[in-house]
Amino acid sequence: MFNSCVQKFFKDLNSIGQFTASLKWQRSLRCEICLNHEHFISHGFIYKQYSSERKEAVGKRIVCSNRYGHQGCGHTYQLTIADKLPHRRYFGVVLVRFISLLLSGHSVCCAYSQATKQSQTRHAWRWLKKLNDNLMHYRGYLKVPIVGKIALEQAPDFTYHRCLLTTLNALTSKEGDGSCAAFQISQQIAFI
Ligand SMILES: [Zn+2]
Repeated sequence: MFNSCVQKFFKDLNSIGQFTASLKWQRSLRCEICLNHEHFISHGFIYKQYSSERKEAVGKRIVCSNRYGHQGCGHTYQLTIADKLPHRRYFGVVLVRFISLLLSGHSVCCAYSQATKQSQTRHAWRWLKKLNDNLMHYRGYLKVPIVGKIALEQAPDFTYHRCLLTTLNALTSKEGDGSCAAFQISQQIAFI
């Protein structure tokens, strides 16, 4: 029996290290692209850069190698700690703060600037759209009936997004600050 996909989210760096150190023996690990399972090699750390001097490891890469005698496809996978939002600047805990502020009645822009400490709020609506896009995944995770997406343009006032709000409330009251991490570990897909 082979896993259908590569695990992308891990509890912490230590768990990623243990996983990448044992790639040779991970017989159930199969590349999603070429379906090979014998050519994975560890391929260095992923860092979050805070400044020119300060960076922090948040994950590692593995590659289905097509070099040095390997016959994989060359595809690279990013394995990250569960609280890191892939391809995003902020950690999950900041997104949970944004959601909590929305739930307590703050406007979208106000919630974003308080959560991120940024005065530019154009990404606030992108976050909201991504949350809305993932609504059915959240409901699947919570095991509540899946409803259709809510068209944001039809309900520009956020207070009308009852279904999204109710879902986010259920989601964040379950795990608090660790809600994004818990979701990403359990579902193995990005929270946003
Ligand atoms: Zn491959």
